Amino acid sequence: MRIDKIINIEHFSMSVVVESQFWTQMLLVLGEGLILISLLFLLLILVLVSVVFLSIKHGRFYSPRLIRAGFDYVERGLRSVAKVFGLNDSELTLFFINLHNSMSRSDFSKIAPEDRAIFLPHCLRSAKCPAALTIEGLACEHCGRCDLDHSIKELEGMGYKVFIVPGSTFIGRMVKKYLPRAIIGVGCLREIKDGLDFADKIGVVVMGVVNKTDGCIETLADWPELMSVATLGTPKS
Ligand code: SF4
Repeated sequence: MRIDKIINIEHFSMSVVVESQFWTQMLLVLGEGLILISLLFLLLILVLVSVVFLSIKHGRFYSPRLIRAGFDYVERGLRSVAKVFGLNDSELTLFFINLHNSMSRSDFSKIAPEDRAIFLPHCLRSAKCPAALTIEGLACEHCGRCDLDHSIKELEGMGYKVFIVPGSTFIGRMVKKYLPRAIIGVGCLREIKDGLDFADKIGVVVMGVVNKTDGCIETLADWPELMSVATLGTPKS
């Protein structure tokens, strides 16, 4: 074999070796980067879980902004780790609803009831409810068969727009139509959590009031809590 051919082959082999070393290095750096990100992610979750535990234990919210921001990014991981530490899904959801409410309370109080709307779930009504479903939700006939009767009157008397809705699509439509600056969502844990996320996304101040009982018919709202939220920033507060 000619000497220049041998040199060419050697040169080619060298470049293959250098290239493969380069990619091996790259993969190593990438792998290390991924491990580092995963560790930081896990550390963040552990910090958040610790803060949540301390907050629940002492009945006050530590670093609420950190928890809320962190929850938005690592919700699934946080739920899994919290479960390992004995905190179930419902407790965690309730904790975040309370946290959200406490952080929104001041903004909510500054908005007049005329600029607020309340969304009540239709499962609160009596099983014998005669009200018809309209494009704006259930039109209560004030038949007196359930608590919605006098509560709606009281809330409307304060200036609220009150809706009894069978689903979240109604909420989106009514918010688009009436443009309230603040809303109160009433319902079960999951509904409230989704409602808070929805309102945050569209930039409306929101407070959530969790029902006392779950289910599809004749559920029970936490009326005293609802009224205490509804009167925030009013002379009745
Ligand atoms: S008070 Fe209104 S919501 Fe309740 S059962 Fe009567 S019509 Fe239905």
